[in-house]
Amino acid sequence: MSGARRCFALAVCAAALTACATTPSAPKSPKAGGPCDWSYSNQAAWPTICPQYAACGNGSRQSPINVTGALARSLPALEFAYGPRQVTVVDTGHDIQVQLPAGGSTSLTVGGRTYQLAQFHFHEPSEHTVNGQGAAMEVHFVHADQGGELTVVGVLMRPGAHNAAIQSILDALRTQQPTFLDPASLLPADRSYEGYAGSLTTPPCTEGVRWHVLHGSIELSGLQIANFKTYYSGNARRIQDPNGRVILTKE
Ligand SMILES: [Zn+2]
Repeated sequence: MSGARRCFALAVCAAALTACATTPSAPKSPKAGGPCDWSYSNQAAWPTICPQYAACGNGSRQSPINVTGALARSLPALEFAYGPRQVTVVDTGHDIQVQLPAGGSTSLTVGGRTYQLAQFHFHEPSEHTVNGQGAAMEVHFVHADQGGELTVVGVLMRPGAHNAAIQSILDALRTQQPTFLDPASLLPADRSYEGYAGSLTTPPCTEGVRWHVLHGSIELSGLQIANFKTYYSGNARRIQDPNGRVILTKE
């Protein structure tokens, strides 16, 4: 990926990442209602809405995928350096997103490479499936390193117990007030994962994104799922062709 293309990906991630400031010519993130806006109800049109979205149609490493047939490898562990942070919860027009302050110290290290957590957001239902099985929802933790390379951690969310961290996000969304939250409270105990090379799951569908779909999942209550659905229901991209990609598993 070129620097500008990397930055485009960052811009789409919506959180203000300082790396983007170095390439002012990078395209802006599409705005809801703008000429390059898109919808989940017409995904087939994504490649033709804007020239920048061509990868949504002609890319060969698109996300999400059905995670299956993974090969066991000695992959690096995911080292999360999360902690309590003041966060802002926003409705982006396509999802509910929790944004962290730029330049923060909330990071993920994989194989000696450190990525800052920029934002995390929610899909209903899940985007990834595992052996053909989806989940009620999925949260994506979007990280970027100083060069603009993106790595995303996906966690499936299943109906179950009330989730206090999720409630604080829903409350902050309703009240439009910042809140303190440790993103680690949304991570399962089992952080082994399936890893593959993919893309953003929203336009411009930029490739070069490292995906880690955790084996563990988290729970939230049926009422909380219903609350998310009052904002977005069906904000999930359909499963993409793996095109022979190798999926690796970290036990
Ligand atoms: Zn996502």
